[in-house]
Amino acid sequence: MQVYNTLTRQKETLKPIQAKKVKIYSCGPTVYDFPHIGNLRAFIFADTLSRALSFLDFEVAHVMNITDVGHLVSDEDEGEDKMEKAAKREKKDPYEIARYYEDVFKENLKELNIKTPNWMPRATEHIEEQIKMIEQLFENGYAYITDDGIYYDVSRFEDYGKLSGQKLEDKEAGSRIEIKDQKRNPEDFALWKFLVGENKNHIMHWKSPWGEGFPGWHIECSAMGMKYLGETFDIHTGGIDHIPVHHENEIAQSEGVTGKKFVNYWMHNNFLQVDGGKMSKSLGNFYTLQNILDKGFSALDYRYFCLNAHYRSKLNFTWEGLQSAHNGYKNLKEKIQELHNKNVQQGKSLKQENKYLLQFEKSISDDLNTSQALAILWESIKDQNLSNSQQLSLIQEFDQVLGLELMQEKEDIPAEIQKLAVKREKMRREKKWEESDKLRSLISEKGYEIKDIAEGFEIKKK
Ligand SMILES: [Zn+2]
Repeated sequence: MQVYNTLTRQKETLKPIQAKKVKIYSCGPTVYDFPHIGNLRAFIFADTLSRALSFLDFEVAHVMNITDVGHLVSDEDEGEDKMEKAAKREKKDPYEIARYYEDVFKENLKELNIKTPNWMPRATEHIEEQIKMIEQLFENGYAYITDDGIYYDVSRFEDYGKLSGQKLEDKEAGSRIEIKDQKRNPEDFALWKFLVGENKNHIMHWKSPWGEGFPGWHIECSAMGMKYLGETFDIHTGGIDHIPVHHENEIAQSEGVTGKKFVNYWMHNNFLQVDGGKMSKSLGNFYTLQNILDKGFSALDYRYFCLNAHYRSKLNFTWEGLQSAHNGYKNLKEKIQELHNKNVQQGKSLKQENKYLLQFEKSISDDLNTSQALAILWESIKDQNLSNSQQLSLIQEFDQVLGLELMQEKEDIPAEIQKLAVKREKMRREKKWEESDKLRSLISEKGYEIKDIAEGFEIKKK
């Protein structure tokens, strides 16, 4: 499989550390509010990647974290913790907020038919691991202490900026961020925050060798990634907005601790725009999955909408766009229903069936080209050289990657009706019209309609 690696800025052949086993870490949600559809695009991407790898016979170990502490409102380590802010807004305990929105998130995943990753660790349950890393960073000379917390000194990490390709000097020259208080460099980031200033009344806090406080946002991903996947693992995913700060910091912390490469392949999905611009609450175009459901669309309409674009392209969400995805998906399901209803006995070209399978594999192996994969699915459905059972078996295969529940919701034709229909078909072929008509009436009385087609027959519920 070829994947685009943000680190090297090119497509590369995926070579896992352990043959045939791929370890993936995906930055998960901060559970302080409903996820918006842009967030969900990232999780649909990570899920499709994991499904594609399984399809290509890799064993997948997938971690997705739950951020339930330490993610501050501003990326510059200032402002309130998002969790605590939400707790004030909703007059609840931050833990209550965290568990509530975690449940909402998991419900969203289910509706989008996203497979549950092997681990979904919470930051608050891995404080010890995070403290250990910070201790190690002190030992290795990357951490320093200020009045409001412990910071990482980015100037000590030679490779800082390697993911985004931004050199520290260039960044600083253009940076308007003032060096706050005792920070040594503007890009230095918090590893641990003390209960002072804005965070004086921070409800979630723990003991540490340096005093009571709570972890910075970035350290959790390094700590949990390494705990579950090892010091170096294969793939890390996330939205492109994470590249310049969050992921750059994850690399600095992890490699600062181990002296080893943290991740071999960094894969990032592009933004979801809404009406050609940024999604924002003030513009009233900040949508959640519930907003989509409220308008009568299904979660899988949205999944289909996302799969029609390459994950590395910007995707523009409009209601018209979702409507046409809905129509396409509905059409697809109807075509599949027709295949279920048909009864075609004769076998067709096996070579043709394999051709589609190979094309499909090729497209997902090419940096997860899902729009092409969908085009191949459509082509195979329209191909008259395949029998309907061949088409159905292809769809079943393809859907392992697409996750569109294409084989579900099929109308179940009771065995009794099936039997009558097959018997009638036999009569018809033998030109025993009277018997054939009688059977058709009987089937009709039982609520089913039979339609003769060139290749056999179709049964439908009336
Ligand atoms: Zn992360």
